Amino acid sequence: MFLELRNLHVKYGNVEALHGIDIRVDEGEIVTILGANGAGKTTTLMSISGLVKPSEGGVFFRDEPLHKLHSHEVVARGITQSPEGRRVFGTLSVLENLYLGAFTCRDKARVERTLGWIFELFPRLEERRGQLAGTLSGGEQQMLAIGRALMGDPKVLLLDEPSLGLAPILVKSIFDTVRTINQSGVTVVLVEQNARAALKLATRGYVMEVGRVVMEDSAASLLANPEVQAAYLGGG
Ligand code: ATP
Repeated sequence: MFLELRNLHVKYGNVEALHGIDIRVDEGEIVTILGANGAGKTTTLMSISGLVKPSEGGVFFRDEPLHKLHSHEVVARGITQSPEGRRVFGTLSVLENLYLGAFTCRDKARVERTLGWIFELFPRLEERRGQLAGTLSGGEQQMLAIGRALMGDPKVLLLDEPSLGLAPILVKSIFDTVRTINQSGVTVVLVEQNARAALKLATRGYVMEVGRVVMEDSAASLLANPEVQAAYLGGG
């Protein structure tokens, strides 16, 4: 098994946010997690990256229990997250932000190769490599957040709302780039409000409601499902 969440429960204080979810991600897939605000999508991603710990159940990567590791050890296993809200270090340059994403890698030649690949994916970042990240546009900051996650040379990329707040033309470009990243061999777990675009890109999807998985299917079947259409795809 590649990546697997088994009976995962997460609590914030006394309040349980995830009530025992099961999700599996096969190598090479794009799996999308859909759900309304507060369904637990971000909590699910943070559980995979080790930022929150389960109260019961666990997260397994090639059968190793990730939930027993620190988050930097999870990164070292090849699992990186691009957080919601384009969290970049505003007072550092584009290049400095990118190098921070490679903190687990001591192989300098490899870091430079990865950087070259990221500049191919996002030429805009290369043009603006010396600019302070805080002065980038929203779309550019999103590219930088994804680029920084890629600097860890991940096997699994966790993307939280990459299209949030972007103009439609940039949304398409971000989704195209996610496809290219996946085709280069990176498995992707994608949390998205833009359910239609996410399902068009994904192999399979999970629908979450208040801390539970209520549906799981191939992306094509979810796109064609009348319940999903009514709840998440604007009725058609
Ligand atoms: P959104 O799309 O709005 O980001 P989401 O599906 O990602 O929502 P989560 O952010 O995972 O949902 O939140 C799941 C539940 O856990 C919510 O009820 C939320 O209020 C709660 N929650 C999230 N983070 C915390 C926290 N740090 N402390 C307490 N409760 C939290």
